[in-house]
This record gives sequence, C-alpha cells and structure tokens, in this order.
Amino acid sequence: ATPTAVMVATGIGAKHGVLIKGGDALEMAQKVTYVIFDKTGTLTQGKATVTTAKVFTGMDRGEFLRLVASAEASSEHPLAKAVVEYARHFHFFEPSDTKDSQKNDKDSKYSGWLLDVSNFIAVPGRGVRCSVDGKHVLIGNRKLLTENGMAIPTHVEKFLVELEEGAQTGVLVACDDVLIGVLGIADPLKREAAVVVEGLIKMGITPVMVTGDNWRTAQAVAKEVGIHDVRAEVMPAGKAEVVRSFQSNGSVVAMVGDGINDSPALAAADVGMAIGAGTDVAIEAADYVLMRSNLEDVITAIDLSKKTFTRIR
Ligand code: ADP
Ligand code: MG
Repeated sequence: ATPTAVMVATGIGAKHGVLIKGGDALEMAQKVTYVIFDKTGTLTQGKATVTTAKVFTGMDRGEFLRLVASAEASSEHPLAKAVVEYARHFHFFEPSDTKDSQKNDKDSKYSGWLLDVSNFIAVPGRGVRCSVDGKHVLIGNRKLLTENGMAIPTHVEKFLVELEEGAQTGVLVACDDVLIGVLGIADPLKREAAVVVEGLIKMGITPVMVTGDNWRTAQAVAKEVGIHDVRAEVMPAGKAEVVRSFQSNGSVVAMVGDGINDSPALAAADVGMAIGAGTDVAIEAADYVLMRSNLEDVITAIDLSKKTFTRIR
C-alpha cells in the first residue's frame, strides 16, 4: 500500500474510534489467524456485581461487609470495585447513584465507616492480603488461601462449584486463619461478544480465551460466548507465553485485553489491541486502541487492514 493509502485507512479507523499506531500495525492485522481474548473487562463488561454474600461464622453481615470492603478499597481490581460498591449499598441501604451533593457527604461517611488497613499487598492472580484492625485478612481465590496454609472445607467447595458452574466467580474471605465467608460475583458478557466471536470464525480466524480466573468459571463463560479454546488460571506472564506458543507454529496472533496483567501479552502479540476503557499500561503496550471499547471493532480493524492491503497487491 502507498503511504497515502495507509494515511487514508488510519483516518477511517480513527473515525470508528480505532486508533492505529503506525503502518506496520495496519499491515499485520490482515494476516491474523488467532484472536486471543482476555475475559474480565474484555469479553465481559468488567462491571462485576456481587450477587450473594454468604457468612459462615456468627459474624454480623454488616461487620463482614465492612471488613471486606475495607480491605478491597485499596485494590484496583474489577472484583474489588464490585465488593466495595456492594458494601456501600448495604451500608446506606440505597443505590449509590444519588445526587452529587449528597454523594460527597456520603463519600466521607462511607470512608469513615471503613476500618484501618495496613500491610496491604495485591497478590497477582490471587487476591489481596492485609491487616484490618490488626486482624490478618485474605480475600481472593482458592490458591490465595491454600498458599497461605488454609484448607477449603467441603461445604465451601460445594458452594464455590455452584457459583462457578453459573459463570460466577467465588471470592473467599478469611480472617485470622478462619474462612468467614464467600462472595458470589457475576460479570455479564458484553452484548456484542458472541456475535463477534461468530464473525471471526466465519472469517476463518480462531478465537481463544485466556484468563486468570478459575477453570469452571472460564469454561462457563467461554461456552456462553462460543469459544472452544480456553486457557484458565493463567498468571500475567503466562498470558504472553500463550501468545508465543501460538506464534511458534507460525500463526499470526492478535491479543485483545484491557488490564495491566494483559500488557505483556499485548506487547508479545503480532497485533495487540487494547480496550479503550482499559488501563493506561495496556493502551501503551498495544498497537491498536479500540476507543469505543466495543468488540465489533476487532473485526473493523482486521477488515480495514484487509481492504488496505489486499486490493493493492
Ligand atoms: P483476569 O485474567 O480474569 O482479568 P486476574 O489475573 O486479574 O483475572 O485475577 C485472577 C483471579 O484472582 C480472579 O478471578 C480472582 O479470583 C482473584 N483476584 C484477583 N484480585 C482480586 C481481588 N482484589 N479481590 C478478590 N479476588 C481477586
Ligand atoms: Mg481483564
């Protein structure tokens, strides 16, 4: 393609909210044979919502949520935001989208409600660990608990499986080495996700899903969206390895993601596509930015590349 054609295509892309970082990126997209999608925030809305909160001990529900929200308030994770939102709702007994004037007042009342947190650590692919009011708190998945020497009792495991088979993520809460509760969190698919997956398959491109989430939830979500190749319980560095494993048999790979944990994979891919609503780190690592955060633009980008490069050759 001539420099003019590249410029025109870049302009057309921009009009659709598809930012293309250079001619190489534009040329590569037409050759893509695999599109690897991150799950949370990419295939799903990333607007996770707490559906259930089960307290196992005699602990008061309000106190339980207060403890959990205090710990998760320091985390940027979509799951953490859902937990904080839920606790806030519970605390005020009304939706958070009240008038702004009231909201400021509520913000300070809410932060006053939260407990003192120290030694906060975000454990990648696991959850969070911290001290809340001097108590040792763990919030996250099975691995987080077992790696900290805790066992998952049968009745809790049963409840987790139930949640996961319904495409939900179970978040475990432990306090001073006692498992005190589980939160069920649902994150609905983006409305266009299944159509885009189907469209890619029709174009002869294989969709793949990669996620840090557990196998059961991952498979339930993949089934809903129509993806057959799933890689679950993958650590951030592992996502880049998945990209490379596809490349090693000569495939041209696109990676679509939104999170900090996706950035190594976005950089490793032949074509990295960042969700516009995603983190700055992901946007920086990518070759394309999908400003509308709409997955249809994955196809828009590939089509644009095809039209620009196949016609002229
Ligand atoms: P994804 O690849 O789906 O974006 P992550 O690698 O960010 O997932 O996280 C993997 C898993 O670790 C989550 O599904 C969750 O079980 C757990 N996790 C991570 N951060 C948190 C947190 N702040 N609170 C609760 N659980 C968490
Ligand atoms: Mg994500």
